[in-house]
Amino acid sequence: MALRGTNQEFGRPYNRRIVLETIRLHGPITRADIARRVGLTTQTVANIVREIGEQGFIVSGRDTPKGRGYPAETLAINPEGGFAIGVHVTPLGLEAGLVNLAGAIIGRSRRDLPRVDPDTAFREIEAMVAELAALRPNGRMLGVGLAMPGPFGVESMSFVGPTTLEGWKGVPVRESLATATGLPAFIEVDLAAAAHGERLYGAGRDFRDFYYLYFGVGLGGSMVHDGAALRGAWGNAGEIGHMPAVPDGESCPCGNRGCLERYVSLEAWERKAHISGEERWIADAAPLFRSALVTIENLFDPETIVVGGLAPKRLLERLVEAAAPLPNSIAARSDRRALRVTLSSVGQDAVLLGAAALAISGVLSPRFGLMFAEGPRRGARDPIVDDMGARAA
Ligand SMILES: [Zn+2]
Repeated sequence: MALRGTNQEFGRPYNRRIVLETIRLHGPITRADIARRVGLTTQTVANIVREIGEQGFIVSGRDTPKGRGYPAETLAINPEGGFAIGVHVTPLGLEAGLVNLAGAIIGRSRRDLPRVDPDTAFREIEAMVAELAALRPNGRMLGVGLAMPGPFGVESMSFVGPTTLEGWKGVPVRESLATATGLPAFIEVDLAAAAHGERLYGAGRDFRDFYYLYFGVGLGGSMVHDGAALRGAWGNAGEIGHMPAVPDGESCPCGNRGCLERYVSLEAWERKAHISGEERWIADAAPLFRSALVTIENLFDPETIVVGGLAPKRLLERLVEAAAPLPNSIAARSDRRALRVTLSSVGQDAVLLGAAALAISGVLSPRFGLMFAEGPRRGARDPIVDDMGARAA
């Protein structure tokens, strides 16, 4: 991703994030290399580096000497420079993790609470966040990000059916999260958070354009282009699980029949595999999974499809194996450098990392900085609260 500095008036915080992100992606790195990459002068970079160094976000070291001359000072992200807590709410329960600035999960907490109601959930989240924050009592806590199943704001599909949080309709999630934790609070659809986590810390680091297929309780996906997930007009792009897959098939809570996630999802696996056996389930799901992969390729032309989510890695491996060989598509190029399908490298942690990254992005992400610079129209919106406003109007 090409990150360039700017001389615009909003530029100062933006440039600071650009430099931090460049250090995160390419560190240890020298000031001169940063300046070259972001197109700012060495002097401007040196000023920014001094500021973010004083703030404790980066640490400096020395290059190993190459030939004669004193080795240049290099800069890297200070892992202990900040922390955020990621929370994932699913129809099965709650999970939370304390994540440092370098993207390592340094503490976890979980509660098995199937179909948890919002009041109980926020009481538990308050306790979990306190427990995790206590692991770094003097740490700089950047905030808490919560990921939950979508879509948001679709009357007939949001909070309907076993892959969603039934009973959560109209809950002001971000406000409740902020009240329960006393921290800056962010929310996101789980599949988008997972794509974000995979992009920052997982297999997605190696790709500029990849499709992230999220195998959760339901099935979702997100095209990540140039570091950002394609969101659609209302932020709900990615409900691939409701793609019609079987004509006149099983009825889906969305009102249609034969939706993909009735067959290919953790919910389907749990419902069917213990009746028919895992072998049979994989054999039944593989052809539908295969057509989904080829459809994604033909629609988005990604470098690869990263498959991850909440499903056990072994299950995803077997499903990907069973889907091979993939039929022809625009992805069947002789000059490919990656496999057409790549398994996630952060696996079940993608959502927690992505949820925490929502808060970390407030410090690190140039795009996030831009959203605020451009005003409230872009981002910084709480889809659930917006939805309630729309309904009340
Ligand atoms: Zn459906």
